[in-house]
This record gives sequence, C-alpha cells and structure tokens, in this order.
Amino acid sequence: AEERINRAEKLALVGKLAAGIAHEIRNPITALRGFYQIIKEYGPKKDYDRIVMEEFSRIEKILTDLLQLARPKPSEFAAFELTPLVHDVATLLEAQARERQVRIEICHSGAGQPVWCDDSQIKQVLLNLTRNAIEAMQDGGVVRLGVCQDGGEAVLRITDQGEGISAERMVYLGQPFQTTKEQGTGLGLMLCYAIIEHHKGRIVVESCVGVGTTFEVRLPLHRKPAS
Ligand code: ADP
Ligand code: MG
Repeated sequence: AEERINRAEKLALVGKLAAGIAHEIRNPITALRGFYQIIKEYGPKKDYDRIVMEEFSRIEKILTDLLQLARPKPSEFAAFELTPLVHDVATLLEAQARERQVRIEICHSGAGQPVWCDDSQIKQVLLNLTRNAIEAMQDGGVVRLGVCQDGGEAVLRITDQGEGISAERMVYLGQPFQTTKEQGTGLGLMLCYAIIEHHKGRIVVESCVGVGTTFEVRLPLHRKPAS
C-alpha cells in the first residue's frame, strides 16, 4: 500500500511539473504568435525584433534548464577539494558581476579536505547560487564565496547584499517556475536542491529583506578508509 501511495505521489509530481512546463512554454509561444500576426499585417518593427528574440531565448532557457534537470549524464563521484571549484566559478562569473557593479570575494579557511562528489554538479550548484546572488543586487555590492569545514562537513557559503527573500517567498523556494525575474526560469534552485540531496548534503538559507541572503551548502567530508 505504501508503494502505491508513493507511486501516486510521484505521478502527481510529474503531472505538476508537466503542467508547469506546458504553461511556461505556451506563454512565450502565444506572444510569438501575436507578434507574427502584427508583423505580417503591419510589417517589421525594430522594437518587436528585440521582444521576439527575447521570447525565443526564454523558451531556449527553460528547455536548457529542464534538460539539465533530467541529468542525462550519469554522476561521476570522486574525492574533490572545493576551493578550486570556487575559484573557477568566480572567474566564470567575473564579467557578469562587473557589468552589475558587483565584486566577488573569496575566503577559505582550514585545510581543504576533499568531498566525495561529482565536481561538475557541485560547480553547477555554485554557479546557480552565485548567479542568483549577483542578480539579487540591483545597485551592485559584494558577493562573498566562502569555503570552510565545520564538524564532519564541508561548507560553501554564498552571501550577497541583495534584495533578500521575504518569508512568503521563502515557502516556495526551490519549487519549479517560481521566479521574480523577467528573464528567469525558476528552475535553477530546484536543480541545486536535487543535486545536493543526491550528494546527501543540505542547503540552508538565511535572508533578511533589504539586507541580503546567505545560501549555505553543507556536504559530508570524504573520509579515507582506515588502513
Ligand atoms: P531564476 O533565477 O531563474 O529566477 P531560481 O530557481 O534560480 O530561478 O531562483 C528562484 C527565485 O528565488 C528567484 O527568482 C528569486 O526570486 C529567488 N532567489 C534566489 N536566490 C536569491 C537571492 N540570492 N536573493 C534574493 N532572491 C533570490
Ligand atoms: Mg537562478
């Protein structure tokens, strides 16, 4: 009986996700159809060009994120240190940060003990969370990326000085298609949560509206087998 409930729950979840996807993709397609009609009747207009391209890239973004969520690549776990990953992510996002007057600071403390993980997936999580941190700061500021160890866990901290997350929105955090951004997909956090759960880790969020947000990713440290 328990298994049946589980299957029913899974089906409900798949249905919810499918409805979300259908809705999110139908919106830009409906808009595109409208613009196509107008352009056909009244001829091209510069302003419409940009909007049409934006709608196309929105569909593309949603599909790219969904494909990542489906994770076609099997996980490749090994012992990795997190500090190099943090530096990679900071380098990758440097241009985007500078564009928004955001400075990325890295601080690491303690000897870097390895974590048993798929490094490309953890990098994906870091990229998503750091990108969100940058995007949360309308007027620039500092994003701090921290790596340290605490008890038996490796801890990654992404702290911003952005808009923060209200208690109401906190409830929906990580659910698909929950976005407050014009060009957002609301799939990034869901992917982060799925990856970290897969690694037997957890994500803790602390936020204060108007002050900033910290996402803390905690992963179990890799222990060498006793010799
Ligand atoms: P997207 O970035 O495409 O909107 P995400 O799943 O990455 O989708 O994030 C979902 C929502 O969570 C964002 O739209 C935003 O409202 C909120 N959010 C995530 N990270 C932060 C942050 N660091 N500061 C404020 N809000 C955030
Ligand atoms: Mg995001």
